[in-house]
Amino acid sequence: MTVLHKNFIGGQSVSVETGDRIKVYNPARDTVLAEIPDTPADMVDRAVQAAKKAQKSWAKLPAIQRANALRRISAKIRENADKIAHVISEEQGKILPLAKVEAAFTADYLDYMAEWARRIEGEILESDRPGETILFFRQPIGVVAGVLPWNFPFFLIARKLGPALVCGNSIVIKPSEETPNNAALFVNLLTGLDIPDGVINFVHGSGRTTGDALCGHPDVGLISFTGSVATGSAIMKVAAKNITKVNLELGGKAPAIVCKDADIAQAAKFVAASRTLNTGQVCNAAERVYVERPIADKFVSALADSMKATRFGDPLGGKEIDMGPLVNKAALQKIEDLVESAKKQGAEVVTGGKVANLGAGNHYEPTVLVNCRQDMDIMRKEIFGPVLPVNVVENLDQAIELANDSEYGLTSSIYTNDIRTAMKACNELTFGETYVNRENFEAMQGFHAGNRKSGIGGADGKHGLLEYTTTHVCYIQT
Ligand code: NAD
Repeated sequence: MTVLHKNFIGGQSVSVETGDRIKVYNPARDTVLAEIPDTPADMVDRAVQAAKKAQKSWAKLPAIQRANALRRISAKIRENADKIAHVISEEQGKILPLAKVEAAFTADYLDYMAEWARRIEGEILESDRPGETILFFRQPIGVVAGVLPWNFPFFLIARKLGPALVCGNSIVIKPSEETPNNAALFVNLLTGLDIPDGVINFVHGSGRTTGDALCGHPDVGLISFTGSVATGSAIMKVAAKNITKVNLELGGKAPAIVCKDADIAQAAKFVAASRTLNTGQVCNAAERVYVERPIADKFVSALADSMKATRFGDPLGGKEIDMGPLVNKAALQKIEDLVESAKKQGAEVVTGGKVANLGAGNHYEPTVLVNCRQDMDIMRKEIFGPVLPVNVVENLDQAIELANDSEYGLTSSIYTNDIRTAMKACNELTFGETYVNRENFEAMQGFHAGNRKSGIGGADGKHGLLEYTTTHVCYIQT
């Protein structure tokens, strides 16, 4: 019988008796793995009230005690890493070695956030008045709503929960309806870890019902969201009702600039690896390429060779592969449509360019397209699949101009052996991140944040941590 997941509210498993159910699929096999309830607003309210109640005493604990709770979770994650990786791979479709990296990184991330416990600092400010001291405090916000995507679903739990809890907030998490199984496993791992009831809560459901109720709840103090621009915009609308603070990590259309002095083989290998990593479903992986004319043919040929060499299939099929399926049929259809429309507009397929029929699952062939003009959708919309459109440019200035000409502003990369070229790009690319001679995988001590429609605020490091605090300035006249 198919498992129907329960919510986790105030330390208890709570089932939903009414409403729709949503099926969870294995994207490599098209089989049903589980079901979730579409949790209605009244139960979302119950979760927020449980979080609100728990937060008061949680915030009073010394921060080091909150940090130790995070460390107990990370230890449990490490003990169960193989099981976690299997669950992630099965429901999301990423290859097992990458799912293992995700599990390990999640544990490391919680430990990293725990280290901040002794470093959340206020300030003492100089006053204009005699006998006055001004104290600037960093305090918890209250209840955080964490709304998650499916592409790194287990890690994203920690990216929201780690900073929220160490700063003294409680949290209600809504996992993606595509990938609830790893979240259910996370809840199981909390058993016996002595984390006060209500500090961590999970509610399952669709964005339209459960997500909307959570983000529109007046007792939520911060909405920490990762997902698409369209959803980010919808969340801002409901947040506006209560003037709720939002932290939005949205999509990207990362340009990779390959300069004429670059190591061509290395650039081709790294760009291809970035585009096939997690089947191209990574917000900061290379989404479009600008290559300088003198090396364009050589680079495209090396890129096509790397893409062609990508082994793909069922991540749990027993064979060593580099890439799994896309997360669902809609994602596959979107990629097919984008490539077909690019072809009609004059793009030429160098390799791939079609759905891969493996009998079952959402597989698309690793694809390289050339003659891709800046005005084509394939150069402007987020593809989120194993497809790389390439545009040839005359010089670095043109590459930077075209790279910046995007509604997205999350990530960019440049390949060059000249430090002056690298520095010019770092100064002139208007993105939250620039990688020189490599692709994506941001550091947990960095600050992952996008410009333009790629988001508001950011995650990771000191600056990401402080997003989960509010300030309080006290004027003490003696
Ligand atoms: P999505 O926006 O479709 O869904 C994300 C979450 O939002 C899901 O849990 C969904 O149920 C919920 N949701 C949907 N509508 C909602 C609403 N009206 N109110 C509240 N919640 C709602 O995104 P996705 O398909 O899960 O993820 C892919 C997207 O995420 C891509 O655009 C990708 O670039 C982006 N992403 C960004 C980052 C980053 O750090 N910037 C990281 C990972 C993914």
